[in-house]
Amino acid sequence: MAQGIPDEVMMNAALIRELADVAKDAALVHGILMRIQETPNSSELVTYAPFTLFPTPVPRSLFLQALAVQTHYNTLVDRVCQDVDFLQDALASTIAVDDFTARLFRIHQQVLKEGRSQSVTLGLNRSDYMLDQGEDGTPSLKQIEINTFAASFGGLSSRTPDVHRHVLKAAGRLEESQRVLDNNPAAGLARAIATAWELYGSDRAVVMFLVEETQRNIFDQRYIEYELWKRNIHTIRRRFDDVYKTGSLDQDKRLFVDGKEVAVVYFRNGYMPQNYTSEQTWEARLMMERSLAAKCPDISTHLAGTKKVQQVLARPGVLERFFPGQPEVVEQVRATFAGLYTLDMGAEGDKTVEMALASPDRFVLKPQREGGGNNIYGSEICQVLEGVKHSSERTAYILMDKIRPAPVQNYLLRRDAPLRISNCLSELGVFGVYVRKGESMVMNECVGHLLRTKSSEHEDGGVAAGVAVLDNPLLV
Ligand code: ADP
Ligand code: MG
Ligand code: MG
Repeated sequence: MAQGIPDEVMMNAALIRELADVAKDAALVHGILMRIQETPNSSELVTYAPFTLFPTPVPRSLFLQALAVQTHYNTLVDRVCQDVDFLQDALASTIAVDDFTARLFRIHQQVLKEGRSQSVTLGLNRSDYMLDQGEDGTPSLKQIEINTFAASFGGLSSRTPDVHRHVLKAAGRLEESQRVLDNNPAAGLARAIATAWELYGSDRAVVMFLVEETQRNIFDQRYIEYELWKRNIHTIRRRFDDVYKTGSLDQDKRLFVDGKEVAVVYFRNGYMPQNYTSEQTWEARLMMERSLAAKCPDISTHLAGTKKVQQVLARPGVLERFFPGQPEVVEQVRATFAGLYTLDMGAEGDKTVEMALASPDRFVLKPQREGGGNNIYGSEICQVLEGVKHSSERTAYILMDKIRPAPVQNYLLRRDAPLRISNCLSELGVFGVYVRKGESMVMNECVGHLLRTKSSEHEDGGVAAGVAVLDNPLLV
């Protein structure tokens, strides 16, 4: 059977030092770039985005399983976001205690009351998984979460395969280099944005990337922008503040920013409470939501991506509501669910609290937050739950089974970090895109993947949070 990187390479210190230099140069040449922390809004000084020296073995069958289920996840998100009653019921207990989700929900209600003006829906999702090492050591694919908002690294991950292939060749591992897959999520993400732009139907209109205040990861987004420019689609980058100051809706609710009509708003900012620095920021979000432009995501798709919705979808009978008469699809999606438990007030939620307090190491406690670093683990679960267990505040969280992947050794290459071997855990992401016009699905595809790897000493955190690094699957 095909294997991972042999010890004779992994443990050869002189070779590893040489390969690390080879890898960093290749990363720079191939454009796996990030601005440096000191000057996040300038491209004068850039560095490589952190990545692993070697690709990580991933069983082929589980990789293919993740790709195969993606279009069903797209359909699921799209159906959830259109089901007003479901969203309302699923989120009722959460919005009673979580101010951020409540505020988003109010925008959702306001848009519904006015009547949705947009007819084109654009979804760019990334479903993330870890490979759980079951009792008997057989790995299985388990979803961590689905990101409907600003799922990143579709750009940079289009370039990492060439770097890993080169490193493996330089290490004399030609056979392994041929098992690193091609990948190009950026092209697929851009194709979906371009389709939404076309359906909007105005040659003059632009695609607006709604961007962060600090933009270290700009190059990841540039890959998508350049794919759009290749199609002669004009893209602009604006912050919330720019939209507040120069944005407006005309009588038909067409969105204009800086005098340019906007066909598509692609949010790369706005998923965290801290992104909303003032009332003006919220007003800008509301204006975009009310507009005719296609939003990625729109407010209902944003809400469909919350962890509370994920937990409710895992309840018995709920997937059947979204895939009526399709038991085989239900089974395929459900097979990827880990155990998810409600903390709503009542007997079921009480049982969840008891279970978590009895063995906190078996679980992860999750608030309704994105961007890494927000979850609660181990003894801290007890501290937090002891504080809220008798109050409705506990409904701001959900509880999830902790997934335990088998650690794999690798070297994490990061600016200013010493070169040393680490025990690592990986998370596989799969990019899915869809475009719907009115009732009809125009596009629904799986467009690529992302492997991120972190040292096992960190429980949480993504690449942007400075914990995980970019990687590639080496199919075994
Ligand atoms: P976020 O939206 O902040 O990315 P996630 O649910 O993806 O939230 O959690 C962040 C990180 O925490 C994940 O990338 C993963 O490393 C870890 N994590 C989350 N859920 C689990 C779980 N059930 N088991 C093990 N690790 C988890
Ligand atoms: Mg997330
Ligand atoms: Mg995540």
